[in-house]
Amino acid sequence: EVLINQIKAGEVVERPAAVVKELVENALDAGARRVVVELEQGGLRRILVRDDGRGIPREELPLALARHATSKIASLDDLERVASLGFRGEALASILAVSRLSLSSRTAVEPHGWRLGGEGGLASAEPVPAAQAQGTAVEVLDLFFSTPARRKFMKSPGTEARHVETALRRLALARPDVAFALSHDGRRLLDVEPAEDAAANERRLAAVCGAEFLANAIYREAELGGLRLAGWIALPSFSRAQPDLQFLTVNGRGVRDRLLGAALRRAYADALHSTRHPAFVLALTLDPAAVDVNVHPQKTEVRFREAARVHDFLFGLVHRWLRELRP
Ligand code: ADP
Ligand code: MG
Repeated sequence: EVLINQIKAGEVVERPAAVVKELVENALDAGARRVVVELEQGGLRRILVRDDGRGIPREELPLALARHATSKIASLDDLERVASLGFRGEALASILAVSRLSLSSRTAVEPHGWRLGGEGGLASAEPVPAAQAQGTAVEVLDLFFSTPARRKFMKSPGTEARHVETALRRLALARPDVAFALSHDGRRLLDVEPAEDAAANERRLAAVCGAEFLANAIYREAELGGLRLAGWIALPSFSRAQPDLQFLTVNGRGVRDRLLGAALRRAYADALHSTRHPAFVLALTLDPAAVDVNVHPQKTEVRFREAARVHDFLFGLVHRWLRELRP
């Protein structure tokens, strides 16, 4: 059973960046206003993700580490309207299967926190008292210590840290209302405060995407029939444009969706007669009941009930905006 879990874990936990993504999504699900990530040796030696969210009650700590335990779905009906980022209940269990993990948490009503540790898929029996502010801290040590084959596939600490940085920048773009910090071996890689107004939002965008992107992009927003699109689009002449700067969220979740990607590429091609390096940071919002977010285990693809309408909405708007931007 332990072995099967370790194999399955590999599907969720590819590398340090995947661990960080899952842990940060949990923090966001818990209502965190600030998420702090610390890495040592690219996350292979140590990953710490700390949040100030609602925390986990002592009696639920063992459940949080158990496979297929999620607090995020109470009924089948909920499945229809999943607004939270995770509801498969396997991220923590999978990470525990391939690391030495410690989960510390404290809710608002508790006088101190509790900690539950474990390694290689086995959690210790009882939580112990721990010094902990309200919120949750997950420490992951020696990732893949139990799966040396996987460990061998890891790149240099610098490369793994860059993957984490990219993942965290994407999460920071998706949630401008939350503060994010990232450090690697004590060096700060990212530090952004919540954006409370338009000016702060632009400062934050510059911090995350670079000032050059911001200088070459325009901000637009529009709403139609329950669909809303807002964000920045840049001309392809934006010189440092990379695939990295194609960023789309659906209901606050970063997605890489073929249908939506095609709509955006087509908008660039039709409006500018160019398909080279579209650069955009866009947020699409719609009724959660109209979108199925659990298509792919990595959860970056989405399925829409009215796919054609969403496609046409996205294409039409971006096409119009690009025409306005064209020199
Ligand atoms: P899922 O997110 O799919 O529910 P996870 O394995 O990622 O599954 O987490 C299991 C459970 O642990 C969650 O449903 C949640 O109740 C709890 N949990 C995990 N991380 C946090 C956190 N940072 N703050 C509060 N609760 C958390
Ligand atoms: Mg989760």
